[in-house]
Amino acid sequence: MTEKGFSSRILHADRRNPIEHGSIHKPVHTAVTFAYDDAHELAAVFQGKQFGYSYGRQVNPTVTALQDKITLMESGVATACFGTGMAAIGTTLFALLREGDHMVSSSFLFGNTNSLFNSFDVQGFDVSFVDATDVANVEAELRDNTRVVFVETIANPRTQVTDLERIGTLCAERGIIYIVDNTMTTPYLFQPKSVQASLVINSLTKYIGGHANALGGAVTEMGQFDWSTFPHIYDNYKVGDKSNWGIQQIKKRGLRDFGASLGPEAAHHLSVGSDTLALRMERNCANAIALAEYLSKHPKVKKVYYPGLSDHPEHQRATDLFRHYGAIFSVELTDDVDCFDFLNKLDLVICTSNLGDTRSLAIPVAHSIYYEMGPERRASMGIDDSLVRFSIGIEETDDLLADFEQALA
Ligand SMILES: *Cc1c(COP(=O)(O)O)cnc(C)c1O
Repeated sequence: MTEKGFSSRILHADRRNPIEHGSIHKPVHTAVTFAYDDAHELAAVFQGKQFGYSYGRQVNPTVTALQDKITLMESGVATACFGTGMAAIGTTLFALLREGDHMVSSSFLFGNTNSLFNSFDVQGFDVSFVDATDVANVEAELRDNTRVVFVETIANPRTQVTDLERIGTLCAERGIIYIVDNTMTTPYLFQPKSVQASLVINSLTKYIGGHANALGGAVTEMGQFDWSTFPHIYDNYKVGDKSNWGIQQIKKRGLRDFGASLGPEAAHHLSVGSDTLALRMERNCANAIALAEYLSKHPKVKKVYYPGLSDHPEHQRATDLFRHYGAIFSVELTDDVDCFDFLNKLDLVICTSNLGDTRSLAIPVAHSIYYEMGPERRASMGIDDSLVRFSIGIEETDDLLADFEQALA
């Protein structure tokens, strides 16, 4: 039999690990602690000799089911879930890197990731920011102590597409951990495993959960990095398959010790939301391309940034790598149009900071999420004062087109 499709595989994942009463969802297990009749068994769980549940900060059955589902989506080997996407990124780097290490990061980053990396740069390891749309810029910054290269797939808000494949080859050649934040593309549009990613980050809050009703984050081990070459794995975690050493350390030194755990109720919401990821992405992306094409021809629009448009600098790369072009685009209006007036006239589009929702959302980025970083850093990221970012939802295409038309009239 040929391999089943994305949705067929993930929809039946829970119940194939038998659940009581034939329940088709993993139940919400609210217990913080788990009892053992035999103290030997409890000891074996704590010593990592057998899988089991110890304490809710480290493991929970509802969260484990979600972790398994994310692993399946990303074609990985293991996943650790966290309370937010930021917790997944911060905890992973905290668990792996040390003072004296160096990381190369794309300079086109989610705003809070940018802020976090600036904190790491002064409080922990060094970070160099580069234009990661060209592997040459990454290679030029590599040092003997470079341990990690961190990139996003499609950057927000300007939609730059990272040189994902060639950076993957470079990291593999140099033995550097390659971390890809797949939030904007999701495992449905893009599988970072195919470009030799070592670890994949997803903010579950966005498309995977999809309904803006729960926060969560994940890091997935791809099984492609040789952790025996990495100098910072503690002896305790050098057990079992080498491909699991990194995620074991992230789960213990990161999740357990830092405690940014995902709760069982949120895990349940995110898992149910993820059932329709493929359907939602089909509709989100179809709407986004229709709107981007319409706006790119509109006289009141100066520029549309969307990888699906043929004038986008990485249009060909996006075509080669992704199933669709994503559902985020940004727009610069002509000088005579006030971006605040335009936003206030939109009826179906909600003015808010989130992205990856079922509803269409918009935000004037320079005045909100990228305000704190200041004009200089904004300019280096190509963020104009009039730039409006849209995250397109699953409304009917004609209704969205009509809404944009009336708001620009
Ligand atoms: C939102 C987002 C994050 C952070 O996720 P939270 O769940 O909001 O903490 C990280 N990376 C990208 C690309 C994001 O869009």
